[in-house]
Amino acid sequence: MSVIHLLEAELELTGPGAVAAPEAHSVGSVLRPDLPLARDGWGDPYVPGTSLAGSLRQQAPKNRRRDMFGDVFKGVGSSEQNDTDETTTIASPVRILGTRLTMPDLPVMRRHRTAVDRHRAAAKATTLHSRELLPPGTELTLWLRIDTETTASPLVDEVIALLSRWRPRIGGGRTTGHGRAELITVRHRVVDLSTPDGLHHWLTVGGPDLVDDRATVVYERAQQAGGAPDEPYLFGRALEFRIADALHIGSGAFAERSGRRTDVAQILRDHEGSPVVPGSTWKGILRTRVEFILRSVGVGNVCASVRDDTSGSCGVCVVCCAFGWTEPSGNAAGDAKPSESVGARGRLLFADSPIRDGRVKVRNHVAIDRVFGGARDEALFAEEVVEDGHLALHIRHDGTVPDLVRAALVLALADMADGLIGVGGGTTRGYGTLTAQPATSEWLTAERPTAVQTLRVTRSARTPVPAPATDEVSA
Ligand SMILES: [Zn+2]
Repeated sequence: MSVIHLLEAELELTGPGAVAAPEAHSVGSVLRPDLPLARDGWGDPYVPGTSLAGSLRQQAPKNRRRDMFGDVFKGVGSSEQNDTDETTTIASPVRILGTRLTMPDLPVMRRHRTAVDRHRAAAKATTLHSRELLPPGTELTLWLRIDTETTASPLVDEVIALLSRWRPRIGGGRTTGHGRAELITVRHRVVDLSTPDGLHHWLTVGGPDLVDDRATVVYERAQQAGGAPDEPYLFGRALEFRIADALHIGSGAFAERSGRRTDVAQILRDHEGSPVVPGSTWKGILRTRVEFILRSVGVGNVCASVRDDTSGSCGVCVVCCAFGWTEPSGNAAGDAKPSESVGARGRLLFADSPIRDGRVKVRNHVAIDRVFGGARDEALFAEEVVEDGHLALHIRHDGTVPDLVRAALVLALADMADGLIGVGGGTTRGYGTLTAQPATSEWLTAERPTAVQTLRVTRSARTPVPAPATDEVSA
């Protein structure tokens, strides 16, 4: 091992990044976000190397992952055997030396989320939480080290090729549009310790300076025309909608005027100041509707992922498979047998949708006094809403989505275009109704019969399901 290869990769976040600190899972406080950004000892946000190592490993071909990034598995030698308790660990020849984050001149973003109560179709109590996000434009530098015997190494070439194909996704919230990044450059510095020159460099220079002017640029974004392609669209296209009346998706903050807080509830905006429908909103309302449709038709034995009485998502039904699921915390204790898994990421990816050409207005509301019939004292409130405007819904996927879910999604989108389900707050006050733009409307009309047919065929072919999930738990 006399040659050290150093690779310096520069990435740029193209969307908000969610790298939560490990302490995030403690009890939330009113003053601090429930999911704060990971920060170093100086209070600056940072991205742990493990986050990137995981993303890079995921991108490598399955049969090369162990040789490139090491592995920990049950079994002896290089083959996995289930009947042995021995654990084999293989060290990764590719080492992640560290990362450095350069924030743009933008503040850390904060987003709030809640869950939809499946019965009331409104926000569920005690599920509101907030998380901090890195603003888009944040630059991230990553250093890799590979030790080899000779200056020319197939492994190094393979890692460089992997990097240039890399679609980096950093941190959590991938299925709701977080953590999308692009590779800008990769620089390669060879330090040959068998030469006096290389030894001198290695012994006298340290840290990021090791990758100096003698490094060669092995990848540059400008030459690659946009970098690695995005995940494919589920329906082969983005879906276009128009706001019928007005839309309010709160940011949880209040507008300020001349330094003082007003009572106007602000809408959520992206880093460019455009009103935005976050990916988590799309995912939430569409999952709710898909569950509703499949349960109403009686196919797929679909669980209700948000419930009071039981532990939540089941982890085996088609909806859990497509949208992901988590192992519930807290109420699963006691006689319930411990789960084998902690959950799984969904295969459907929902991106943020900025609203174009909308007008932001402030609307006032007041409560009615039930005794006197007039406006109630001190019950006036105001909120920003977006009027008009249009937006595109991007649903992508990075795995096979079950046909049932695809069909139910088409029907859920048709329901949304028909105004049966609204987006954002105040849907019972007429907010949040979307209408499909002509092309999307045509597409929905064309897709609907096939979707209905898929549900009908599955329903007539299904074997009788003995009991819903709740009864199985108590039995
Ligand atoms: Zn489920």
